[in-house]
Amino acid sequence: MIQVTLPDGSIKAVAAGSTPMDVAKSISEGLARNVLSASYNGETVETATALTTDGSLVLYTWNDVNGKKAFWHSTSHVLAQALQELYSGIKLTIGPAIETGFYYDVDFGEHKVTDADFKKIEDRILEIAREKHEFTMRSATKAEALAFYAKENNPYKTELISNLEDGTITFCDHATFTDLCRGGHIPNTGFIKAMKIMSVAGAYWRGDEKNKQLTRVYGVSFPKQKDLTDYLELLEEAKRRDHRKLGKELELFAFSQKVGQGLPLWLPKGAALRDRLEQFLKKAQKKAGYEQVVTPHIGQKELYVTSGHYAKYGADSFQPINTPAEGEEFLLKPMNCPHHCEIYNTKPWSYKDLPKRYAEFGTVYRYEQSGELHGLTRVRGFTQDDAHIFCTPEQLDEEFKKVIDLVLYVFSSLGFENFTAQISLRDQENREKYIGSDENWEKAENAIINAARDKGLNTVVEYGEAAFYGPKLDFMVKDALGRQWQLGTIQVDYNLPERFDLTYKGNDDKLHRPVMIHRAPFGSMERFIAILLEHTAGNFPLWLMPEQAIILSLSEKYENYAKKVLNLLENHEIRALIDNRNETIGKKIRDAEMQKMPFMLIVGEDEEQNGTIAVRRHGQEGRGNNSMTIDQFALLVQEEIDKTLKVFNV
Ligand SMILES: [Zn+2]
Ligand SMILES: [Zn+2]
Repeated sequence: MIQVTLPDGSIKAVAAGSTPMDVAKSISEGLARNVLSASYNGETVETATALTTDGSLVLYTWNDVNGKKAFWHSTSHVLAQALQELYSGIKLTIGPAIETGFYYDVDFGEHKVTDADFKKIEDRILEIAREKHEFTMRSATKAEALAFYAKENNPYKTELISNLEDGTITFCDHATFTDLCRGGHIPNTGFIKAMKIMSVAGAYWRGDEKNKQLTRVYGVSFPKQKDLTDYLELLEEAKRRDHRKLGKELELFAFSQKVGQGLPLWLPKGAALRDRLEQFLKKAQKKAGYEQVVTPHIGQKELYVTSGHYAKYGADSFQPINTPAEGEEFLLKPMNCPHHCEIYNTKPWSYKDLPKRYAEFGTVYRYEQSGELHGLTRVRGFTQDDAHIFCTPEQLDEEFKKVIDLVLYVFSSLGFENFTAQISLRDQENREKYIGSDENWEKAENAIINAARDKGLNTVVEYGEAAFYGPKLDFMVKDALGRQWQLGTIQVDYNLPERFDLTYKGNDDKLHRPVMIHRAPFGSMERFIAILLEHTAGNFPLWLMPEQAIILSLSEKYENYAKKVLNLLENHEIRALIDNRNETIGKKIRDAEMQKMPFMLIVGEDEEQNGTIAVRRHGQEGRGNNSMTIDQFALLVQEEIDKTLKVFNV
């Protein structure tokens, strides 16, 4: 008998040679039906692997990342089999599971695979799936493995094997198909009930453009047909909400090849939106004791050598700018922190002056490969809602809590209700790779943990994820489609105060090092607005909308009244505009809907006579016959704004 420990701590005694599937069956039939893969003592095993020693077993289902990974990895084997059957002489390379689904990189030789081929590939995969083939792992010597692919005339697999150590090579067999593989499969192909080929794209062998271009076939598979249907619907919705598409439709931002890739141009409406977000945060920051500073977009190379950013961003990023005077080298600013350190250094500080909190909407530039650029989420120049807090170690606790308050205020005002906080701490085993004293680290880590607990945050702790210079807290938000994004971050830093020789005089009259906190609730304006666009589908909270209302006149006759209404709205500080075009009211409403106008105010004869407006809400059916005065409407707008935009209290 062997002792198998389960994740809940319970121990099962089973006969030596029992498999993870046997253990699942001994727990419940229901579990056994859902088990997709397993790990034993932290190593991936097959559900049919005989367990011969005591150990810890984890069984994975579709609800686990590892379960999905095994599912998609297994489907990629079936994809490879189907492709090999359908296209003679092709050469397989690698086929991993990815975040959603899997791909296989294939040298198709003479064949060309297009969308038109997807159906027949899918049909064949599902046919193989229905035959319920088991996946079986077996070891092979290096010579055997090389011989196998020599026979298949496959130089890619041969290259992979040449880099493997003899004795570590394994194959996976299912049906008539064999692939080089490290393991981790679902029990049999029958679990695959639905699958779709998503796309094909070019991909270089080993990601190197000097190598031959292969075809990457992307697919996704599910244990239920409904899961696939839901997934495809989600993709459609994501497409409708794509911030690149909405940004164009709403005229918020644009890109110009002439200006350069990855450098967004903010159009008037987008700039107004950004400005509103900035004013919102500035107002809260002012209350929280921040002071606004401004620093240049470039700095001497030496500055970034001192800060260590040159070592990090120097070689792989934008190269130094040389001035006509010899010997001068400047870099585009990759981070605002060094500049803020130098602001701190402009005068001596006493512990009584601290904390100092310097805030700046600072634009930074980092090189990204053109293939990596994506709308506003991956750009080459972006503006951080940055701030640096310089405090004494004793103040860290309090400061951290204050920053969390500010971040939570930002999230609630912008409608992000679903988030978790990831606390990144040191690797327990490997403490020497971190800068700063043990005592300070302990203080900082405890400050973060306590602050998060105090504020009732839903947290995950990750050991070994801290930066070398300090622990951090990252906020991960879930958007309306359930996708996870990393937003605001709060980081403790012991490194820069050291590098810039920052000091303050303590009450012992001696000089001490302040602790530095980096924090950015939005992260960057670009990324934040992209996420906000996709989260709200462009229906921002009312306080943030570029325009809150549009006045639609029934005909040109009511132009003067429309202007009068606009005037009154402006007196109430409601942002509005008039659609005076010679169009039908139906057309005007449709266009306003497209523009995501929160309120449409229809004015005609009745309204002019009674001094009212007919209010139609965005997304509402029909013309809207909710007649009211401007004062009543202003009250309605204020009430709605007050629901999301609260006053920030410190
Ligand atoms: Zn495999
Ligand atoms: Zn910083």
